[in-house]
Amino acid sequence: MKPTTTRMVMNLSDTLRRDDQQKIITKQMEEKEKLNVLRGGNTGVALGDGNYAGECPRKAYMRWKGLFLSAEDNRGIMFEGGLANETILIEKLTRQLPAGFKILTQSECGTSWEINGIKVTGSPDIVIADKDNVPHVGIECKQICSLWTGVDVLLKNKVSLKHLAQSAHYMLELGLPEYKLIYVSYVDYQLPYMKALDAYVPAKDAALSEHFEYGTNGKAKKMLPFRKVYELGFNDTGFLQYREEGSKSFWTTTVIHRQGIYDFFAHVTTLDSNLGPRPLTLTAEGEFATYNICDYCKEIKPVCDKYETVPSRWLSEVAKLDTVTDLNKI
Ligand code: SF4
Repeated sequence: MKPTTTRMVMNLSDTLRRDDQQKIITKQMEEKEKLNVLRGGNTGVALGDGNYAGECPRKAYMRWKGLFLSAEDNRGIMFEGGLANETILIEKLTRQLPAGFKILTQSECGTSWEINGIKVTGSPDIVIADKDNVPHVGIECKQICSLWTGVDVLLKNKVSLKHLAQSAHYMLELGLPEYKLIYVSYVDYQLPYMKALDAYVPAKDAALSEHFEYGTNGKAKKMLPFRKVYELGFNDTGFLQYREEGSKSFWTTTVIHRQGIYDFFAHVTTLDSNLGPRPLTLTAEGEFATYNICDYCKEIKPVCDKYETVPSRWLSEVAKLDTVTDLNKI
């Protein structure tokens, strides 16, 4: 006679939602340990003329003060995709490492320095080191999550100022002369019929056409999954530059000066007395972008619009937002 077993019944959706909630609590506990610390993930750049770009100084300020902007459900899923991307790359690199080299864990390669008595910590995504833990290669990993970012990265060689600033911060702190920034897209992106795209999508058999699928009419139908690696370094005058890895093309020089990274965080430590200007929305080369970063900051923009002249009121109003957790109260 077969033993009787009780069949497990699971509501998968509820189970995953429960895990989402638990992860939020775990994340809040991790964040609480870093209270009163400025974070490498909020790296921006001071432009030297009183303006800032790449990251909003106020976002770095609120995180320093323990106000944590929770990711909504769907953004949380995207964030998990980013972590999965990192895990996949670490596994691939681990299999390919030359003898005597290893990938440092985040606790072994975390960066830390101080500005005006405030600690600034960072967690580089991947650092390859020798047996003595001396870093040789640093890598920042980003997942492509929209068709338009994919077009920028793959076809226009346009890299996010924020991603570059964060990579430059870790490169400086790890003492590396160069750094890598890798973008990975895991999605088949259906191309919409848009004139704006025609100018960039390659014709069948042209350079880069291997990244597209074409219909019988010869028109591109899909952008296929891809990886693209950029190499980064500072030029002789201290400005960050980047180019596609292995390419012989000219470097693209950015507005990120090595001192601008440190000045950005110095500025953030002064926001208690003055919230300062809103960030400029710039391309890596310093041109104005076609959108405004504040228009994509839907939770905090109403507070900035009303209270930006009184930092203490701004902070207390941000703390009241439904999407913000005040880690000081946990
Ligand atoms: S609305 Fe603009 S200035 Fe205010 S926090 Fe958001 S990005 Fe920063």
